[in-house]
Amino acid sequence: MPAALLVLFYLGLTCAPLVLAAVQGHAPRPLRDELASGVALAGLAILLVEFVLSGRFRVISGRIGMDVTMRLHQLLARAATVMILLHPYLYAGPQSLSGGLTPPGSAALNYDWSGLWPGIVAWLLLGALMVIALGRDGLFRHEHWRAMHGLMALGVAGLGVLHATRAGRYSADPTLAVLWWALFAVAVFSLLWVYVIKPAMKARCPWTVSAVARVADRTWELRLRPEGHTGLRYQPGHFAWISVGRPAVSLDENPFSIASAPAEDPDLRFVIKELGDFTNRIGGIRPGTRAYVDAPFGSLTLDRHRDAAGVALIAGGVGIAPMLSHLRQLDADADPRPRLLLYANRTIDQIVCDAELKARATDGPLRVVHVLSEPPENWTGETGFVTAEMIRRHFDQDALRTWVFVLCGPPPMLHAVEQVLTDLGVPPKNILLEQFSYD
Ligand SMILES: Cc1cc2nc3c(=O)[nH]c(=O)nc-3n(C[C@H](O)[C@H](O)[C@H](O)COP(=O)(O)OP(=O)(O)OC[C@H]3O[C@@H](n4cnc5c(N)ncnc54)[C@H](O)[C@@H]3O)c2cc1C
Repeated sequence: MPAALLVLFYLGLTCAPLVLAAVQGHAPRPLRDELASGVALAGLAILLVEFVLSGRFRVISGRIGMDVTMRLHQLLARAATVMILLHPYLYAGPQSLSGGLTPPGSAALNYDWSGLWPGIVAWLLLGALMVIALGRDGLFRHEHWRAMHGLMALGVAGLGVLHATRAGRYSADPTLAVLWWALFAVAVFSLLWVYVIKPAMKARCPWTVSAVARVADRTWELRLRPEGHTGLRYQPGHFAWISVGRPAVSLDENPFSIASAPAEDPDLRFVIKELGDFTNRIGGIRPGTRAYVDAPFGSLTLDRHRDAAGVALIAGGVGIAPMLSHLRQLDADADPRPRLLLYANRTIDQIVCDAELKARATDGPLRVVHVLSEPPENWTGETGFVTAEMIRRHFDQDALRTWVFVLCGPPPMLHAVEQVLTDLGVPPKNILLEQFSYD
């Protein structure tokens, strides 16, 4: 499904409750009251659809990109939260609240406690969910936070639907009520898919750690071998969720770009930088350890750029991982297009696979430009950060117009380089970008 259709489908789903409410033909109320209902209907719809914007559905993230999916998830969640938190405050005042105990669908508010309590609990839970999502750093392990986030969001969604169908003026309508419960069923299914169904499917295709090797300062290559199956079908630029030494159904799984190329052997290779509790343990993982892989994900692939005149790969730090996959596959395909790797690191000992890069540059159409922000004394290469001048030094006007630019690295670097490229006239459709953090 093309991205534009996805957007239309999304708008259709989230606007459907408002449309279904509008066609019910109730007598008009004061504007503020209609607004109070409107923000609640739209907010709840956005919140329910958030579950499929979790990044685990390839039909979505494969079309619009993982970064865009996660940004949308965060932005829309904030918008829905503001709408829902405003909902009780928007009612015009006592005249809206003077109906006492009235049947759902009547003009005044329904004070029936059975409809009110789910709304109050959902409202409080949503506030807590947002506070935790924004301030979680250092409070919880990432995996615990993810599970808690999903369960709290499910609580808000379920209670919100209960409140809407029991107390709502418009949601008492059977068609709208059915839509609410259908959207809630999709939300439940989404969580089950991510945490139960997908892991159970993964269990049928296990992997084994075949090697772990240090490839740079605090950076490791992890190799996984398929166990009793033919391996994974993927493209260079894809990433995988992996869990190592844990059961298939486990909260402990982390996303890593695949650094191997599909044309190589069926082993998957990952380049992993020490950062936290899982990655700090990589060096101690023993060959033979069981692993599980959920993949492929991401949209850093070149399949829609076959007619690009050249391939520019701009990597910061461990952002080299997907670039290695591209370089390995391009060479394996004997792709004749020129390619340039601009590889930025802080220090020289952070450069990964230096010998391999040199060999590929000697044997094929690759040029490698290293950039160090803390270079050693005798360094003759580029220094500092990637700037417009640096890009101009290495790419002529023709390359800027006709090459595809693949960017991966720390978010501040990525966004700065993306801005530079856009200012230099690179068409946005020729810029592919993936960041390693959605915080
Ligand atoms: C699409 C993508 C591709 C990535 N590819 C690579 C790669 O090729 N090589 C590499 O070294 N790193 C990569 N990362 C980053 C890597 O996922 C994190 O460094 C790793 O998960 C940290 O786990 P930890 O338990 O060691 O650290 P923790 O201390 O648990 O977490 C540190 C930070 O890592 C991130 N993180 C942790 N767990 C997860 C998770 N389950 N899902 C998403 N983010 C998480 C969060 O930002 C968190 O704040 C990638 C991340 C993403 C999103």
